[in-house]
Amino acid sequence: MTSVFHQVTEPGARISADVLVLGGGIVGAAVARELSRAGADVALVEAAGPAAGSSGRCDGNVLVQTKHDDLGVRLTLRSIEAYRRWDGELDGGLGFHQRGSLVFFADPEQDAGAPRRVARLHAAGVRAEHVDGDELRRREPALRPGLAGAVDCHDDASVYPPGAVAALLRDAVRHGCRTHWGVRALRLLTGRDGRVRGVRTDRGDFAAPHVVNAMGVWSPGLDAGGLVPLPIRPRQGVLVVTEEAPGLIRRTVTEAGYMADRAAAGDGTRPAVAFVAEPTGRGNLLLGSSRRFCGARTDVDPDLFTAIVARAVGFLPGLARVRAIRSFAGLRPWTPDNRPIVGESGAIPGYVLATGHEGEGVGLAPVTAELVTAAVLGRPAPGEVLDAALDAFAPDRFAGHSEAAGEVS
Ligand SMILES: Cc1cc2nc3c(=O)[nH]c(=O)nc-3n(C[C@H](O)[C@H](O)[C@H](O)COP(=O)(O)OP(=O)(O)OC[C@H]3O[C@@H](n4cnc5c(N)ncnc54)[C@H](O)[C@@H]3O)c2cc1C
Repeated sequence: MTSVFHQVTEPGARISADVLVLGGGIVGAAVARELSRAGADVALVEAAGPAAGSSGRCDGNVLVQTKHDDLGVRLTLRSIEAYRRWDGELDGGLGFHQRGSLVFFADPEQDAGAPRRVARLHAAGVRAEHVDGDELRRREPALRPGLAGAVDCHDDASVYPPGAVAALLRDAVRHGCRTHWGVRALRLLTGRDGRVRGVRTDRGDFAAPHVVNAMGVWSPGLDAGGLVPLPIRPRQGVLVVTEEAPGLIRRTVTEAGYMADRAAAGDGTRPAVAFVAEPTGRGNLLLGSSRRFCGARTDVDPDLFTAIVARAVGFLPGLARVRAIRSFAGLRPWTPDNRPIVGESGAIPGYVLATGHEGEGVGLAPVTAELVTAAVLGRPAPGEVLDAALDAFAPDRFAGHSEAAGEVS
């Protein structure tokens, strides 16, 4: 098996490549693999190790039905198809399951909007149905009685993010990608013509005509000269992991309020807690989740832990007999319009952004890799949906934006 740890980078080493991918999370790993398979000479530069950032501290849901607009639905569907394909191509570890997911409504008023949601999903070719409270209990008997109904989306899927990062990187390395662990990118290097010529790192200058910034919440920390700083802020989320409780739930279940919390721009430090439970391959449950702005803190606030557990037990009473075995916090790379920042910078040719995915980096990593590969190779975006994404995710939409950059030290 190819080791992803094979490269030791000596200080002052002379490194050059066609493309430098900065960041070894799910986005950087997917981009590095896609570009390597397309024949590019790729070097991946990561300050720590694989999945050391948000991708090692998150759920692995890839849910079509929680998306707010048609573009999000179509992109996530495309990502799920990619993950299914990758499951066959990669040598294990992806943890891909397509068990579907349920988003439930606690009161009839919320439930009344479900047929419209389902019609929208059907229009995009998604397999989903509206079920009433009785049918919901038949499908997930551990949910508390009295819920109004749910949308059961059969196309929804999940992966194991750290396993996915490792599997993608192994395959990237197999296709010639070099990996530089423990190397911190500091500054973009440009030539007199304004084009990218590489990156200054704490181990010396690495040369390349293309640099992809996939550093998640840390991406504003790359000094890109006079460019307006990226308006990305870390939005913390806490997860609680239970001991194995096989069969308690069969698929990811989410309260409808989760979607509203994800969309809300956030008002500073007040945390929002909404119930989501994801069964892992071994039967442990990941219970979440919270959203709050508190800088780059990844400590778990005891009150938040208690609030997440109490909310989960309220919807899944059987959890009262299941022990929590650990909890952790991760950081979502938030942007002011809740859309990622993907594509080539208009101001610095050769500088490509692949960041700002907030709570959808796992779900959107495959399509992000396609978009970045097209941008680097100078090809049109493959397909109408990706073409629309290039517009919606364009890096230059924030030029002149006043939001303070969320640099994380
Ligand atoms: C509680 C929680 C639950 C979530 N659930 C889901 C979910 O179910 N589905 C979903 O799609 N998303 C989910 N997310 C969001 C998801 O975790 C992120 O969108 C995703 O991990 C971002 O991936 P990334 O590769 O962009 O960033 P990261 O994984 O953070 O990778 C960035 C990498 O850059 C490295 N780096 C930093 N600085 C430098 C530097 N100077 N030089 C080189 N490298 C550097 C870091 O070490 C890090 O490894 C969740 C997030 C949280 C917090």
